[in-house]
Amino acid sequence: MEQELQRIKEVALTAIKAATDQQALQDVRVKYLGKKGEVTALLKGLGKLSPEERPKMGALVNAVRETLEAELDKIKSSMETAAMNARLEEEKIDITLPGRAPKTGHIHPLTTVNEMIEDFFMKMGYTVEEGPEVEQDYYNFECLNLPKDHPARDMQDSFYITENFLLRTHTSPVQARTMQRHEPNSPIRMIAPGKVYRWDYDATHSPVFHQVEGLIIDEHITFADLKGTIETFLRHMFGDETKVRFRTSFFPFTEPSAEVDISCVMCGGEGCRVCSHTGWLEILGCGMVHPRVLELNGYDPNKVKGFAFGMGVERIAMLLYGIGDLRLFFEDDIRFLEQF
Ligand SMILES: [Zn+2]
Repeated sequence: MEQELQRIKEVALTAIKAATDQQALQDVRVKYLGKKGEVTALLKGLGKLSPEERPKMGALVNAVRETLEAELDKIKSSMETAAMNARLEEEKIDITLPGRAPKTGHIHPLTTVNEMIEDFFMKMGYTVEEGPEVEQDYYNFECLNLPKDHPARDMQDSFYITENFLLRTHTSPVQARTMQRHEPNSPIRMIAPGKVYRWDYDATHSPVFHQVEGLIIDEHITFADLKGTIETFLRHMFGDETKVRFRTSFFPFTEPSAEVDISCVMCGGEGCRVCSHTGWLEILGCGMVHPRVLELNGYDPNKVKGFAFGMGVERIAMLLYGIGDLRLFFEDDIRFLEQF
């Protein structure tokens, strides 16, 4: 029996060394140490030996079993280590490669300028009002003193959806909607920022652009209030040195009306290409709310007065950032947008 044990031990150890994978190793374990394994059979056979032989043989069989188990565990664990190393090698990361930072993007220059404008007027106590971009002809024109056939409608060649609906050509309808929502003759102090649509496309016009319009209505509002507000606003945007001038103009919804110019931001008034050598840049339109507009929207021109103003956000952004072509804002070229 001792010889048999020795033979089993040697064959088993050879088989363990020859095993090339985990499955082969498991097969060896079952063959010798499993329930029906050869070493297990020897242990079971100890009962047939004489009481004198039994302890000695028992110790020998157990020693072989332990040797085989230890060898099996050793090879198993070295196979696992090798497999892990192979995987690490395969999935190795080259830390000398430059990193790939995620593209996060940033705020569009038009949004920045819009926020600057909103911020200024909110600090002055104005509310920010919004309205639909698909607007009724009634709100876009009629209640702003632009009846059908009014020639000034031609200045705003428009995108009509149907006879009575169009893409709004200015944010003025938000002013009309706000007035009609208020109690007649109650004070209003609001701005209306948003997208507007006109049929134009060149370096200074886009079919879609952004406006901010403002409206203030109260008792005792005068043209001096309008001038003070506009001058303070423009110096806030373009700097304290900015000169501001008002020129008479015409808008159907204001009377009197004015165009406002600022001293050229490029040359400071000396005259350059940007200001066509005049030293001045046209920046916004404004005026006292036309009595007819007050009436059309439920206000009494004998009790309250108001002023209104409107400006293009693109125009202001172009002057602040020195951008020559308005269409760049809408091309979404990352190389352009990244500069701001
Ligand atoms: Zn200039």
